[in-house]
This record gives sequence, C-alpha cells and structure tokens, in this order.
Amino acid sequence: MPRMFVPGPVDVAPEVLQAQTAPMLPHRSKEFEATFRSASEKAQQLFYTQYRVFLFAASGTGLQEAAIRNFVSKRVLSVVNGAFADRWHDVAEANGKETEKLSFDWDQPASPELVADAVKRGGYEALTIVHNETSTGLQNPIKEVAEAVRAASPDTLILVDAVSSLSGAKIEMDAWGLDMVLTSSQKCLALPPGLALGAVSDRAMEKAKSVENRGWYFDFLRMEKHRLKDSSPATPAMSLIFALDLQLDRILAEGLEQRFARHSAMAKRVQEWASMHDLEMYAPEGYRSQTVTTIKNDDNINAPDLNAFLKPKGMRIAGGYGPIKASTFRVAHMGETQMTDIEDLLVAMEEYTHKG
Ligand SMILES: *Cc1c(COP(=O)(O)O)cnc(C)c1O
Repeated sequence: MPRMFVPGPVDVAPEVLQAQTAPMLPHRSKEFEATFRSASEKAQQLFYTQYRVFLFAASGTGLQEAAIRNFVSKRVLSVVNGAFADRWHDVAEANGKETEKLSFDWDQPASPELVADAVKRGGYEALTIVHNETSTGLQNPIKEVAEAVRAASPDTLILVDAVSSLSGAKIEMDAWGLDMVLTSSQKCLALPPGLALGAVSDRAMEKAKSVENRGWYFDFLRMEKHRLKDSSPATPAMSLIFALDLQLDRILAEGLEQRFARHSAMAKRVQEWASMHDLEMYAPEGYRSQTVTTIKNDDNINAPDLNAFLKPKGMRIAGGYGPIKASTFRVAHMGETQMTDIEDLLVAMEEYTHKG
C-alpha cells in the first residue's frame, strides 16, 4: 500500500474502503437510519460533546460556509494566521457579511487577549478560528481563546475549524464552550473525501432561528428536524456513512487518548529529525501541530525533488501551501499513519539528504 505523508486526502484502511461497497438501501429505511444514528452518536465522542453532530455530503469548506449562513446576520470576526483561516474570511465576505479580519503573523499563535479585545470592541455575532493550520503546522490555543472571548463578549459564538486535527488532537467542545466545531472526512479521520461533520451547540441553534437567508441545503434548523428522525433533508452520501460508521468503531477501539498520544509521538519524532538536520519548524515550540509538521526549507531539500526520490518507495510528502509554498515543506502524520511508517519515511529522507 502506498503511504502518503500529506495532509489530506490521506490513506484509508482497506476495510474502510471496502465498507463503501455495501449495497444501497432506501435512505429512508430503518436499516439505513440505524447506521446514520450510530455514526452520529459515535461522532459525538470525538468532539467531546453532548450536542448534535450533523453529517453533510460536502467537504469541510461547505461547513465553513454553513456556519456563516446559520450564525451570522451581519457581523463576524475572523482570526487569521494561515491559509485556511483566510479562506473562512473570504467565505464570509462572499456571503455578503460584514467581516473583519484579525491577523497574526503566520508563524505566531492567535493571542487570546488580543482576540478578546477585538471581539469586545466590535460587537460581533461570531468569531471564526482555525484550530490546526494545515498550511503552517501551527495549532492555535483554542481553549484559551474561547475562555477569553466568553469572558469579554458572552454572546459571541465561537466557531472552530478542526478539519485537519479532529481525532488527532483533543478538542473538548463542551468543556471549552465552543459553539461549532467542523471537520472533513479526508484528513485525520482517514476516510475518503466527501463528508463533512459539524457539531453545533444548543445556543448556536437558538441563534440560527434569528438569522435570515440561511439557505436550504445547509440550513441547520432543517437539518435538525430530520436529524431527530435519524435522517437528513437531502440524500446522504450513504457509502461514506457506511465507511464512517466502521471507521468510528476503529477509532474508538484504538481509544481516543491513545490516538492523541500516537499523533503527538509522531509529531515529536518528525520535529526531532528536522532539528537533527538543523532544519527549523515553521511554528514555534508549544504551538506545533500534532498532525502535520511544516518545516522551513534549506538548500538541501526541495519538495518536488524529494518526492521524485520517494515515489519509487511508494511514499510522498507535501510541499508548502499558499504564500509559503516554496519556503516550506510538510510532513503529515495523521489518520492511519503509524510510528513505523514515520521511521520508514525518515530512513528514506536520510538517504535523500546524503545523496548529495
Ligand atoms: C483541508 C482544510 C480545509 C478545507 O477542507 P475541504 O474539506 O478541502 O473543503 C479547511 N480547513 C483546514 C484547516 C484544512 O486543513
């Protein structure tokens, strides 16, 4: 099996791929509804939430848009310190909202104090922030930001993109007071692309009632009505939901704490390798991602060239993303990837650095 050390789409376990080949059922049948329910209930454990988890036939960006459409009548603040946070801001703008950007240098975490100050001054209905910036390999201190925002502006909804980290790093939605946490299937969950999962708090659902023009497909109030009947308003991505249901069993069988520890150990190993080669991580110590490591290039490593070297070995890493495309490269360590895979990759990278 080829091994991809790229931050999505990632390798999917053969039995999970296989689960997609189950025969179709009518989506309003008892059998399918049981699977739909089982998958949504197990998903709640990943988000550490007692609230609902919606399953959409969409990618993660769809839920960035849904969050804006459901929770923002007018004003939203986007914290931006990476490419995907910037996208969420663009999404808000494209939906005609009054958007403000609170920018931090991409190699710096969001400051809870500065975010709280901005929220207090602006009278924002919602705040968007990315937990794990897949471009920079930086993990924002969401718990601290949420705590500061809650204290400064209790009514502001806290919307979190955890596309590349959910199930690889602990995000306690309810304990941290988050109003929406969204993710995609093709990253840390190690499923094929096409499914988006979004957990939504009760107070966010209340807020949605006052927002006009929520649209139809992504209207959470309509979704909720159907969810209570273990269904969705439009045809769900059934094959992906079969795969999700099995994958959640596999994830819960590994154990969430064990899964977080596995990701964190792989991150440390890659960081250690980079340091040994005098390569610098893009994100500062203390804020480094558990699922993807972004490393500054030096003259020795050129991502396309390294990938050409890795290809015959069935491996692949990722180049940089967006404005730091040329100056960084990324090693993802998420989903099915095990420490032994990382060791194999590092042996190959070692050969590459010595080949002169
Ligand atoms: C990949 C990614 C997205 C976009 O998700 P899609 O599923 O491709 O729409 C958004 N945010 C982050 C942090 C990502 O890594």
